[in-house]
Amino acid sequence: MARKPFIAGNWKMNNTIEQGLALVNALKTAKNKNNADIMVAPSFTAINAVANALKGTGFIVAAQDCYFEEKGAFTSQVSPEQIKEAGATAVILGHSERRALFGDTNEILNKKIAAALRHNLQVIYCVGETLAEREANKIEQVITSQLVEGLKGYSAEDLKTLVIAYEPVWAIGTGKTATPEQAEEVHALIRKVLTNMLGADFANNTRILYGGSVKAENVDFIMAKDNVDGVLVGGQALIAEKFTRIIDYE
Ligand code: PEP
Repeated sequence: MARKPFIAGNWKMNNTIEQGLALVNALKTAKNKNNADIMVAPSFTAINAVANALKGTGFIVAAQDCYFEEKGAFTSQVSPEQIKEAGATAVILGHSERRALFGDTNEILNKKIAAALRHNLQVIYCVGETLAEREANKIEQVITSQLVEGLKGYSAEDLKTLVIAYEPVWAIGTGKTATPEQAEEVHALIRKVLTNMLGADFANNTRILYGGSVKAENVDFIMAKDNVDGVLVGGQALIAEKFTRIIDYE
């Protein structure tokens, strides 16, 4: 069955509002010849301006995180309701930088997913192993626990808009891309785990993105794999011509 391609850019802590607007205004010229869902994830401060600039284009605007509480004394945190009000319709949860630098565990992410779903935000849930875990043959164990613990308690219906991003930690921002075969192998594993958890229909309908040093030069080979439904791009999503070429992959 055909899954709609999903091309996402994670801006991380880059771009002022002005720079973000210049970038999305340039991206609007992409042909989108693959009829992909296209997503950009600016910093919280730029969500509103970027969402306004993209109104009516079909682009998805996402936050890079959200907190799991509705409101209250949680200095610096941003709630799903707040990001939604700013104009986001999606949220990236579990990015490896959040897991490694800011202590997001599978248990915390499970609560963040619940909070996002309560507000009808589309969740892009990131999973991936470190180099040490890969070398210790722990890929299956790590990915399985990220999926089972992160998605615990939700039905296929709850998760019908869920997108999974497989991002091997050793490939993020390092210039080292997983080979298309390595990506395909783990994507197939993710689909198997999702089948066991939530059934074959759910697994076959859920889009799985690859992330980790995706570039204009390698996107065509990665997108050619059966179980790769899109890409989550960091560095190259900040450069309009590069991200446009990624959107219009061959
Ligand atoms: C990311 O931030 O999710 C990412 C994959 O970064 P990069 O493309 O720069 O490796």
